[in-house]
Amino acid sequence: MIQSLTDKVVFNNGIEIPGLGLGVFQIPNEETAEVVKTGIINGYRLIDTAQIYGNEKGTGEGIKEGLKITGLNREDLFVTSKVWNAHISKEEALNSFEESLKKLQLDYLDLFLIHWPGKDSFKESWLALEELYEAGKIRAIGVSNFEIHHLEELLSYAKVIPALNQIELHPKLSQKEIRDFCKQHDIKIQAWSPLMQGQLLDHPIIKEIAKKHKKSTAQIILRWDIEQEILLVVKSVHENRMLSNSDVFDFKLDNEDMERLNSLNQSLRSGPHPDEFNF
Ligand code: NDP
Repeated sequence: MIQSLTDKVVFNNGIEIPGLGLGVFQIPNEETAEVVKTGIINGYRLIDTAQIYGNEKGTGEGIKEGLKITGLNREDLFVTSKVWNAHISKEEALNSFEESLKKLQLDYLDLFLIHWPGKDSFKESWLALEELYEAGKIRAIGVSNFEIHHLEELLSYAKVIPALNQIELHPKLSQKEIRDFCKQHDIKIQAWSPLMQGQLLDHPIIKEIAKKHKKSTAQIILRWDIEQEILLVVKSVHENRMLSNSDVFDFKLDNEDMERLNSLNQSLRSGPHPDEFNF
C-alpha cells in the first residue's frame, strides 16, 4: 500500500507509477498551467490529461513551470495522456501522439491510454501504441474504460499486455469483477472520478465515517481506494483541496468502515457505460 503522495507501484513492465495523481478533466486550457504548476509544487508527481480535454498545451506549460520552481527533473514526473477515439486508423493514432507530445512540450510520455473502447475496433489504436512503446516514445501503454470483454479481445492479439485500465470507480461503483480480471492479468486498475465528481461528498454514511476519523468525506473515499491498492487520479483546481486530498496517509479505515463503504455499491455511474457510449 502506498504511504505517501510520491510513493509508486510497479507495472507489469517494471515501470513505476505514483499511486495518487492529479487529473485535469474539465479545466479550461488557459487555467490548466496554473493548476498543474500548483499540483507539482504541492507534491503531486502524476499528471493525468487527455487529447479530448483540450488542455494538453496548458498541462505542458504547467509542467515546465512546476519543474522550474521545484528544481525537479522531467523524470521525477509521470505524465499520462489518452488517444481519442476519432483516431481509429493506426496512422491517425500515431500522428495524434506526435501532436500530444508537441502540445505537452515533452519528448516522451510515461503512459498513453486508449481513452474509450468505442463501438468499432480499437485494434489499430493498440497497434499504434505498441509501435510507439517499442520505439521507446512511451514508457508504458494501457487502456481506459475497457470492460472485461474488451480486454479479452485486446489480449487475443496484443504483443504488449496493457499496464493499466483506467475506469470509473468509487464507493457507488466498486467494479469488483473487472478488478479481479485485471489482477489475474497483472493489469493495474486506476480509478477516475474517485469522488464521483463531488457527488459523494455529502453522503450520510461517508460523513459519519469522516466524523469518526476527523477527516473530510473526500479523504475517507480516497483512503478507501488506497487501502484496496487501487491507483487513482483526483481533480481539484483549489490548492487547499489538492493538499487535503493528499493528506490521506496518517489514518487507517477499520474493517467496519470498509464494510460500510463497500455496502454503498449500486453500480451507479457519473459517466457513460463503456458499452453504451456513442461516438
Ligand atoms: P473527481 O471525482 O476527481 O471529482 C472532482 C470534483 O470534485 C471537482 O468538481 C472538484 O472541484 C471536486 N473536489 C475535489 N476535491 C474536493 C474536496 N476535497 N472537497 C470538495 N470538493 C472536491 O472527478 P473527475 O471526473 O475530475 O475525475 C478525476 C480525474 O480522472 C479527471 O480529472 C481525469 O484526469 C480522469 N478522468 C478520466 C476519465 C476517462 O474516461 N478515462 C473520465 C473522467 C475523469 P474543484 O476542482 O472546484 O475543487
